[in-house]
This record gives sequence, structure tokens and C-alpha cells, in this order.
Amino acid sequence: MVKVYYNGDVNEEVLSGKKIAVIGYGSQGHAHALNLKESGADVVVGVRKGKSFNKAASDGVEVTTVKEAAAQADVVMVLLPDEQQQKVYEEEIKDQLQPGNALVFAHGFNVHFNQIVPPEFVDVFLVAPKGPGHLVRRTFEDGAGVPALFAVYQDVTGQAKDLALAYAKAIGGARAGVLETTFKEETETDLFGEQAVLCGGLTSLVKAGFETLVEAGYQPELAYFECLHELKLIVDLMYEDGMAGMRYSISDTAQWGDFVSGPRVVDARVKESMKEVLNDIQSGKFAKDWIVENQVNRPQFNAINNRESEHQIETVGRKLREMMPFVKPKRKEVVASAK
Ligand code: NAD
Ligand code: MG
Ligand code: MG
Ligand code: MG
Ligand code: MG
Ligand code: MG
Repeated sequence: MVKVYYNGDVNEEVLSGKKIAVIGYGSQGHAHALNLKESGADVVVGVRKGKSFNKAASDGVEVTTVKEAAAQADVVMVLLPDEQQQKVYEEEIKDQLQPGNALVFAHGFNVHFNQIVPPEFVDVFLVAPKGPGHLVRRTFEDGAGVPALFAVYQDVTGQAKDLALAYAKAIGGARAGVLETTFKEETETDLFGEQAVLCGGLTSLVKAGFETLVEAGYQPELAYFECLHELKLIVDLMYEDGMAGMRYSISDTAQWGDFVSGPRVVDARVKESMKEVLNDIQSGKFAKDWIVENQVNRPQFNAINNRESEHQIETVGRKLREMMPFVKPKRKEVVASAK
């Protein structure tokens, strides 16, 4: 089994006297900055003027420009959107790095795919919580934490691993457990998971099920309940007790259907397609296409996003969720943009 690091394994002294710049104050940024501060670290946030800047100020954290924060800090944690990182790094961070500083990420994308080539005189590592930023913050406030990965890419001070673990502890990760990986492994598995299973695989599976029922003449509202709404209950059971725990709770009829029909739907062809998706991630093709898509201002991303938000499963779902007060909309901007 892989070694898991907990609070007691961490030498937090390596962070004392060091100033940490958290660059970006979005999902991860706000959680890291506030957790670090409450763990006693010396934190400054660097972000562009606007919503995030104002939020940081009203949360009571020291906030300034990206360049100024990077200039002051010994440890620079880059929590900008992955597709913005190269530009901001080149223009505002790179020239502020001093020998012996640490350049840190929460995802290996830009370093692994050579979009950011760090100077040879800084430590480079990643600390990646395995959960969204708001959970990183909420669990920390509850006295717990979200498990995290760390990886050392470059160690010039001889302290990079200790620093990564101390950082992970300060954001609450070592309360839940921290696992060691590499930039390559973290980047490729993160991309594969979100594409093949968590986001891409799941939305395509749900849509295909919904469309199959609706095209066969069933009411879209029932199709929505069966193929989307009930997912949460099933996923919660799997999260708590694995597939066996989920199967224990469902009826034996549902379990028999799971056994005989599941492999007919997600069959050997699907696994072949997953291997192709993984190959494109490993070869850098996926990264290259996404970088180019951003360079031309996202024509495909925007077109697909508009088309998807008008799919019948979304229009039916919006109406049904309004009738279910216990399903509270969490993303106000999504609700607003759909109106
Ligand atoms: P986000 O989009 O929520 O926040 C980005 C922040 O950067 C915002 O404060 C925004 O104002 C700021 N920003 C954007 N462009 C900027 C610019 N040009 N100059 C200055 N500031 C700018 O991003 P996020 O989801 O927190 O992701 C940050 C990093 O964390 C990424 O590397 C991502 O892969 C990683 N990560 C995210 C999650 C997650 O659940 N969201 C989980 C693990 C790792
Ligand atoms: Mg998004
Ligand atoms: Mg992920
Ligand atoms: Mg990801
Ligand atoms: Mg049922
Ligand atoms: Mg059962």
C-alpha cells in the first residue's frame, strides 16, 4: 500500500518565517488562503482587481496585485485557472522568483505539458486537494480536511518534500491523509478521471439514458428522475460503502439488473474508447487542442456549452427542481444564465 502522511508525520517548522503568496482567490484560492492564515501562516493573496480581489479584502486577508504578492513571498502557490497560468506566470510571476523560493501548483497541467518552465533555482512541487475548494474550506472549519496529493518536481533547497507536507497540513489535508505522486501521474489521472468517468463519462451516460426513454415515448419528467435525480442517492451510497454497500441497499431486482445489463451498456467497446482518451492525454494531444482552443477564444467550447444548456434534460430539470424546495440551487450564475 502507498504511504499516507498525517499531521504527526509533518515538520511544520519549515514554513515558519516564510511568506506564502496565494495567487488567485477562486474556488481553491479562498480555501487555501483562509486555511493557511488560520493555521498561523503569513499569507498574502495576489489577484487581479475585481470580484475576487474584493472578496479577499472583505474576508480580511491581505490582498494585492499578483506581481506584488509574488515579489514579497518565499512560497508562491499558483491557483489561477489552468488556461490562464502561463500568461500570468510570464508577465507577473517569473521575474519575482528568487533563488530558494518555492513555486507551487494544485494541478500539474502547466508544468507537465511544458507551458510553464520554472527556473532551475526554485523548488517546484504541487499540493492538490482531492475535492473542490469550498469543501477544502468547509471541512477545515469543521476540524477535518480533504485528502490531498503532493509531488516534488524540483528540489533545490533539500526541503521541497517537507515544505509540501507542511503546506498540505496547513490547509487541513494531512488531517485526512496526504499521498505522494508525480506531476505526470497527478496530471494524467486527474484529466482521465474527469473526462472518462466523473464529468464526461457521467453526463454522456445520463443523457443517453434520458434520450432512450424519451425517444421510446416515456414522459421526460420520469426520465429525468430515473436517469439524473436518483444518481445522488446511489453515488452517496457508493461514496460511503463502495459498490457493495450500494448494492446492499438497492433491491435484489435492481442488483440483478445491474449485473446483467450494466456490462451490456458499458461494454468492451467503451473501455477501448477510454484507452483512446487516455492515449490522447498521455501524448499531449488533449492538452495541445485545449491550449489552441483557448488561443482562438473558445469557439467550440462556447458553442457546445450553449447547445448542452438547451438540452431537454436541462429544461425539464430546471422546472422539476423548482418544484423540489429541498433541492436548493447552489450555482446562482448557472440559474441566471439559463433564464
Ligand atoms: P477558479 O476559476 O475558481 O479561480 C481562479 C482565480 O484566478 C479567480 O480568483 C480569478 O479572479 C483569478 N484570475 C483569473 N485570471 C486571472 C488573471 N489573469 N490575473 C489574476 N487573477 C486571475 O480556479 P480554481 O478552480 O480554484 O483552480 C485553481 C487551480 O486549482 C487550478 O490549477 C485547478 O486545476 C486546481 N484545482 C482545482 C480544484 C477545484 O475543485 N476547483 C481542485 C483541485 C485542484
Ligand atoms: Mg467551470
Ligand atoms: Mg480532479
Ligand atoms: Mg481537473
Ligand atoms: Mg427505481
Ligand atoms: Mg440489495
